[in-house]
Amino acid sequence: MDNDRLAQLLFPDITNTPDYYENLYPERQLPDKAEVTRIGPSPTGFIHLGNLYSATAGERLAHRTGGVFYLRIEDTDNKRKVDGAVECVISSLDYFGIKFDEGAEVEGSSDNNSYGPFYQRQREQIYKTFVKDLVKKGLAYPCFCSEDDLTKIRTIQSDEKLDLGYYGKWAKCRDLTYDEIEKRVKAGEPYSMRLRSSGKPGNTIKFRDEIMGEINLPENIMDVVILKSDGIPTYHFAHAVDDHLMRTTTVIRGCEWLPSVPIHVELFNVLGFRRPRYAHTAQLMKIEDGKKRKLSKRKDPELSLGYYCELGYHPQAVKIYLMTILNSNFEEWYQKNHDKPIDDFKFSLNKMGTSGILFDLSKLDDISSTLLSELSMEEVYKFFSDWMKKYKPEYTDIYFADENKTDKIMQLCMGIGQKRRRKDFINCTQMFDYLSYFFNECFSPDYDFGDNSDVSAILEDFKNNYDYSDDASAWFSKVKQTAEKFGYTSDMKAYKKDPEAFKGNVSHVAEIIRIAVTGRRNTPDLWTIMQIIGLDSSIKRIDNAINSINK
Ligand code: GLU
Repeated sequence: MDNDRLAQLLFPDITNTPDYYENLYPERQLPDKAEVTRIGPSPTGFIHLGNLYSATAGERLAHRTGGVFYLRIEDTDNKRKVDGAVECVISSLDYFGIKFDEGAEVEGSSDNNSYGPFYQRQREQIYKTFVKDLVKKGLAYPCFCSEDDLTKIRTIQSDEKLDLGYYGKWAKCRDLTYDEIEKRVKAGEPYSMRLRSSGKPGNTIKFRDEIMGEINLPENIMDVVILKSDGIPTYHFAHAVDDHLMRTTTVIRGCEWLPSVPIHVELFNVLGFRRPRYAHTAQLMKIEDGKKRKLSKRKDPELSLGYYCELGYHPQAVKIYLMTILNSNFEEWYQKNHDKPIDDFKFSLNKMGTSGILFDLSKLDDISSTLLSELSMEEVYKFFSDWMKKYKPEYTDIYFADENKTDKIMQLCMGIGQKRRRKDFINCTQMFDYLSYFFNECFSPDYDFGDNSDVSAILEDFKNNYDYSDDASAWFSKVKQTAEKFGYTSDMKAYKKDPEAFKGNVSHVAEIIRIAVTGRRNTPDLWTIMQIIGLDSSIKRIDNAINSINK
């Protein structure tokens, strides 16, 4: 076979050689040990925690070593493409503080720096140049098998319990003659391009994964497709060409790609590229009914990054939590170095989990409430109001109309000026619900006073004695008076000694008032709440509660 002639027949328009691109994208001039990492999401419109997990690892590794972290859009599969997906990737990652040094930009432009284009569909000429070169070397060939042909092959193979795929005697197009190929190409028959694998059954390859450790896998024996019939590369081929030319030093990606490494190793070899290091990240799992299972797109909304933006988790909290599950020694470091920037932590790949990383939302909630309790009131206020403007615009005026009132609410609910800050806030959605009782427009209580026939009389009595100008202690004295009047003691010691001697104690009475005024059993200081919502509203709410009982 005259391979040069075949290459010319298949790729007449390709005039560049691999050397051209090697020179165009030279080795990067970076400090010693600097790492070049990337993420390569497909523009499916769904960016998930797994992406953020890998992205955080890549970003940390690159930036901790003075290297480069870039974004490549892997859009070779047009069927899965969704409009606006790239914006979604960039804005979601930006929300979590993941910044790229290079890579795809929102408008689809790509030449923002010298290692682009960063959209794979814009790299067709590059891929074809390398395929043409492989054809010249007898390492790739055209395959005219149709989907039907391939299905037939697979059916026989599966009946005979053989490895499925295009290899050995099944690789029908491997040894077509030049004349036959020419005839079929000229007749316009569609064809894909395949690697001529030199792998042998029974051989294994050994490599070190930066996360998973030593790995042994069977050598690749498949003549895998490298260019599909529409001229677009497969993931495998694009990965080899792009990560080489973009000079990636460590490929961090999900462990679903681990079984494909033998294909990639062979591709790097035939292309004459130095292989990057691999770091395959373990699957994220959750516990359900006592069992660990994979997070699933269908069942678990928390897998999507949009979930955290929409619920209004503080990005810093998500980052702290991610670091906690990324590196086993982070939590201890963070406790000791609370005042330092998180990026001071010495992130490393070999401290990452190798199987089933547990993602625990309640742990994230703990981290979130602690983080919010450490922020200044202004910071929380700004974070919350920005979220409200975006996700609850119709309520923004209600919550923020009276700045003075909102200030007091935030001060109270965050425990500003108290011995210890409160940790009532978790995320903006929960804050939004939590704060709703402060605003008459949003106050729609479902009173639950339990089984107590004194409730309306207690409320009536308290209301009649209530004076807005009472200070907290005068207010509490009146609560006590009401309590005593109805047989609820304000002597807690006496109550503890002999609870049966009383109907209850003053805290039970306070709870009744609290439920009437706020609709809740647990709130911050009730006197302050009544000061904030005002005399009229307080009285009206108590009246409503009484009416609801007497109905
Ligand atoms: N496009 C691939 C994916 O979304 C990226 C894998 C990689 O990072 O190499 O799974």
